[in-house]
Amino acid sequence: MGIMSFSSEFIHRHGPLTGAVARFAQLLEPKTGPELEAMAQEANRLTRQHFGRTIRMFGPVYLSNECINNCKYCGFSRDNPILRVTLTVDQVETEAKFLANQGFRSILLVAGEHPKFVSEDYLVKCVEKIRPFTPSIGIEVGPMETEGYIPIVKAGAEYLIVFQETYDPVVYEDMHVFGPKKDYAWRMDCPERGYAAGFRRLGIGALFGLAPWREEAIALAMHTQYLLKHCWKALVHVTLPRLRPAAGGFQPRYEFTDRDMTQVICALRICFPQIGITQSTRERPEFRDALMQLGVTTISAASRTEPGGYTGAGRDQLHQTKKGIRGEAIKDVTPDMNAEEQFHIADSRTVPEVVARLREMGLEPVWKDWDQSIQNEEVTLAK
Ligand code: SF4
Repeated sequence: MGIMSFSSEFIHRHGPLTGAVARFAQLLEPKTGPELEAMAQEANRLTRQHFGRTIRMFGPVYLSNECINNCKYCGFSRDNPILRVTLTVDQVETEAKFLANQGFRSILLVAGEHPKFVSEDYLVKCVEKIRPFTPSIGIEVGPMETEGYIPIVKAGAEYLIVFQETYDPVVYEDMHVFGPKKDYAWRMDCPERGYAAGFRRLGIGALFGLAPWREEAIALAMHTQYLLKHCWKALVHVTLPRLRPAAGGFQPRYEFTDRDMTQVICALRICFPQIGITQSTRERPEFRDALMQLGVTTISAASRTEPGGYTGAGRDQLHQTKKGIRGEAIKDVTPDMNAEEQFHIADSRTVPEVVARLREMGLEPVWKDWDQSIQNEEVTLAK
């Protein structure tokens, strides 16, 4: 996006924090119990004012765990000797229909970064295949050019998720050992390229545990403020994933406690009352339930983080890769052999259990909050 992009503004920034970010930084300073409680009450009030007593539901479908990057913290890392597979478009439909039968109408298509297996054309076909029964489709895949996103938006995808992982360029360089993901600025400017292509929901986040949490959270708030200003037609979603156990055995470098995460979510809600805050099944059930009262607006439930995880689709094509190159499919796949998951989830409740708990807390699950006709209209107007 040239010199006006967020990455250039962030890397070359000088002077004091401004606007909502300045207040956000103040709210992240150490707080006493009563001070944090006051923040929680304000966050709860603002969440109900802006979002009512609703929680939006989404389900991830992992398309592929092939990846050409080596990221120290990720189970899909290229050199991890794991079982891999890329689902066919029909198998993606099978997985998505499983979620649709559970009630999900918002589906996030997730994949590692491997342009040969997860190409733009493949993504278009996946979106077209599930669109008839999926009003809201998002993608979380390797960053692309704007021109690559346009056909995916036209096919019916409406949201784009791309986490920077860490906003600290030095830590970023260390964590991303090999592959195109090493390019910090290319990744950072991805939401803007997606916006230019027509995505109308943009999800950003940092993977907490890689760098000191206050600095990461402040950088995330700066990114949020920037996108709200420069991509003003989009809804901005923020996610605060914490490291979970995964293949490779990476351990968090920095602590990010439940209390810390609570403080960040309250501060985000107070400073950016209009943004969505997403919580995945990385967190424990009781903690997720508590956060839904404080600012979280969007959750997944009963997720699987491996391709074919819901239905067993693709097991006949399990293989290993060497330096990103696919090996032969394994013959004689035994019942305990599956494609590797990206990380272990911490909330394994079923969808009915999560829904029942939401209602117990006085919250109503919303399965569909996007009308495809709006997207079609915008794409037509953009032509
Ligand atoms: S974090 Fe993403 S890019 Fe890195 S290894 Fe995992 S799937 Fe690949």
